[in-house]
Amino acid sequence: MTASPNTPISGGCLCGAVRFEMTGPAHDVYHCHCSICRKLQGALYPTYGVVARAGFRVLKGADNLRTFDSSSEVHRHFCMTCGSHVFEDTDYEPASVWFSVGTLDDGADPGGRDGTERHIFWESRTGWYEPADNLPKVNEFGDDNA
Ligand SMILES: [Zn+2]
Ligand SMILES: [Zn+2]
Repeated sequence: MTASPNTPISGGCLCGAVRFEMTGPAHDVYHCHCSICRKLQGALYPTYGVVARAGFRVLKGADNLRTFDSSSEVHRHFCMTCGSHVFEDTDYEPASVWFSVGTLDDGADPGGRDGTERHIFWESRTGWYEPADNLPKVNEFGDDNA
Protein backbone atom coordinates (compact mmCIF):
# COMPACT_ATOMS: atom_id res chain seq x y z
CA MET A 1 0.00 0.00 0.00
CA THR A 2 1.37 3.39 -0.94
CA ALA A 3 1.41 6.04 1.73
CA SER A 4 -0.83 8.97 1.01
CA PRO A 5 0.32 12.49 1.84
CA ASN A 6 0.86 13.22 5.52
CA THR A 7 0.32 9.63 6.57
CA PRO A 8 2.15 8.64 9.75
CA ILE A 9 4.45 5.69 9.07
CA SER A 10 5.98 3.80 11.97
CA GLY A 11 9.07 1.70 12.32
CA GLY A 12 11.73 0.52 14.67
CA CYS A 13 14.72 -1.70 15.23
CA LEU A 14 14.59 -5.47 15.43
CA CYS A 15 14.50 -5.73 19.22
CA GLY A 16 11.93 -2.96 19.65
CA ALA A 17 14.05 -0.71 21.86
CA VAL A 18 14.06 2.05 19.23
CA ARG A 19 10.78 3.22 17.73
CA PHE A 20 10.16 6.06 15.33
CA GLU A 21 7.36 7.66 13.41
CA MET A 22 7.50 9.88 10.38
CA THR A 23 5.17 11.84 8.24
CA GLY A 24 5.12 10.18 4.86
CA PRO A 25 5.55 9.87 2.07
CA ALA A 26 9.32 9.82 1.59
CA HIS A 27 10.50 12.40 -0.89
CA ASP A 28 13.24 10.13 -2.28
CA VAL A 29 13.84 6.38 -2.26
CA TYR A 30 17.28 4.96 -3.03
CA HIS A 31 18.72 1.48 -3.33
CA CYS A 32 22.38 2.10 -2.52
CA HIS A 33 25.09 -0.10 -4.00
CA CYS A 34 28.08 1.69 -2.47
CA SER A 35 30.72 -0.42 -0.74
CA ILE A 36 30.18 1.38 2.57
CA CYS A 37 26.48 0.52 2.76
CA ARG A 38 27.20 -3.06 1.70
CA LYS A 39 29.55 -3.65 4.63
CA LEU A 40 27.54 -1.57 7.05
CA GLN A 41 24.24 -3.32 6.45
CA GLY A 42 25.65 -6.73 5.62
CA ALA A 43 23.42 -6.78 2.56
CA LEU A 44 24.14 -6.44 -1.13
CA TYR A 45 22.29 -3.15 -1.10
CA PRO A 46 20.12 -1.40 1.46
CA THR A 47 17.16 0.81 0.64
CA TYR A 48 16.82 4.27 2.12
CA GLY A 49 13.97 6.70 2.21
CA VAL A 50 14.48 10.40 2.73
CA VAL A 51 12.06 12.54 4.71
CA ALA A 52 12.08 16.04 6.13
CA ARG A 53 13.71 16.10 9.54
CA ALA A 54 10.75 18.06 10.87
CA GLY A 55 8.51 15.07 10.14
CA PHE A 56 10.74 12.40 11.70
CA ARG A 57 10.37 11.60 15.38
CA VAL A 58 12.18 9.07 17.55
CA LEU A 59 9.40 7.98 19.89
CA LYS A 60 11.37 5.65 22.10
CA GLY A 61 14.92 4.49 22.64
CA ALA A 62 16.90 7.58 21.63
CA ASP A 63 19.31 6.73 24.43
CA ASN A 64 19.70 3.24 22.98
CA LEU A 65 21.09 4.61 19.73
CA ARG A 66 24.79 4.69 18.97
CA THR A 67 26.35 6.58 16.09
CA PHE A 68 28.98 5.51 13.62
CA ASP A 69 30.41 8.15 11.31
CA SER A 70 30.99 6.30 8.05
CA SER A 71 32.58 9.48 6.77
CA SER A 72 33.07 12.91 8.28
CA GLU A 73 29.70 13.97 6.83
CA VAL A 74 27.54 10.87 7.33
CA HIS A 75 26.35 9.84 10.81
CA ARG A 76 24.70 6.42 11.06
CA HIS A 77 22.48 5.60 14.01
CA PHE A 78 22.17 2.02 15.26
CA CYS A 79 20.33 0.26 18.04
CA MET A 80 23.09 -0.73 20.45
CA THR A 81 21.17 -3.83 21.51
CA CYS A 82 20.23 -5.48 18.21
CA GLY A 83 22.39 -3.60 15.71
CA SER A 84 19.64 -2.40 13.38
CA HIS A 85 20.74 0.60 11.36
CA VAL A 86 17.69 2.76 11.81
CA PHE A 87 18.56 6.12 10.24
CA GLU A 88 21.31 8.50 9.35
CA ASP A 89 22.04 12.20 9.27
CA THR A 90 24.19 13.91 6.69
CA ASP A 91 25.95 17.23 6.99
CA TYR A 92 25.24 17.99 3.34
CA GLU A 93 21.47 17.57 3.67
CA PRO A 94 20.79 18.70 7.26
CA ALA A 95 17.07 19.31 6.75
CA SER A 96 16.51 15.63 5.90
CA VAL A 97 16.78 12.24 7.54
CA TRP A 98 17.67 9.08 5.65
CA PHE A 99 15.94 6.08 7.20
CA SER A 100 16.41 2.39 6.47
CA VAL A 101 13.24 1.36 4.66
CA GLY A 102 13.59 -2.18 5.97
CA THR A 103 12.95 -0.92 9.51
CA LEU A 104 9.40 0.18 8.67
CA ASP A 105 6.76 -1.95 10.34
CA ASP A 106 5.29 -4.82 8.34
CA GLY A 107 7.33 -4.05 5.23
CA ALA A 108 5.48 -0.78 4.74
CA ASP A 109 5.89 1.14 1.53
CA PRO A 110 7.61 4.45 2.31
CA GLY A 111 5.66 6.16 -0.49
CA GLY A 112 7.12 8.78 -2.74
CA ARG A 113 8.71 6.25 -5.06
CA ASP A 114 7.24 7.56 -8.30
CA GLY A 115 10.00 9.33 -10.12
CA THR A 116 12.51 9.08 -7.28
CA GLU A 117 13.16 5.39 -6.72
CA ARG A 118 16.50 4.46 -8.22
CA HIS A 119 19.66 2.48 -7.80
CA ILE A 120 22.53 4.74 -6.75
CA PHE A 121 26.30 4.19 -6.76
CA TRP A 122 25.55 1.60 -9.41
CA GLU A 123 29.19 1.39 -10.47
CA SER A 124 30.05 0.00 -7.03
CA ARG A 125 27.68 -2.99 -7.18
CA THR A 126 29.08 -6.44 -6.56
CA GLY A 127 28.83 -7.58 -10.16
CA TRP A 128 27.49 -11.05 -9.38
CA TYR A 129 23.93 -10.04 -8.59
CA GLU A 130 22.05 -7.44 -10.58
CA PRO A 131 18.50 -6.36 -9.79
CA ALA A 132 16.27 -7.18 -12.75
CA ASP A 133 14.08 -4.12 -12.67
CA ASN A 134 13.61 -1.12 -14.89
CA LEU A 135 14.50 1.50 -12.30
CA PRO A 136 17.13 4.10 -13.17
CA LYS A 137 20.65 2.97 -12.35
CA VAL A 138 22.94 5.89 -11.73
CA ASN A 139 26.39 6.62 -10.41
CA GLU A 140 26.74 8.55 -7.19
CA PHE A 141 23.31 10.00 -6.36
CA GLY A 142 22.29 10.61 -9.94
CA ASP A 143 21.29 14.18 -9.25
CA ASP A 144 23.55 16.18 -11.50
CA ASN A 145 26.52 14.23 -12.57
CA ALA A 146 25.53 10.68 -13.44
ZN1 LIG B 1 17.12 -2.86 18.75
ZN1 LIG C 1 25.58 3.69 0.24
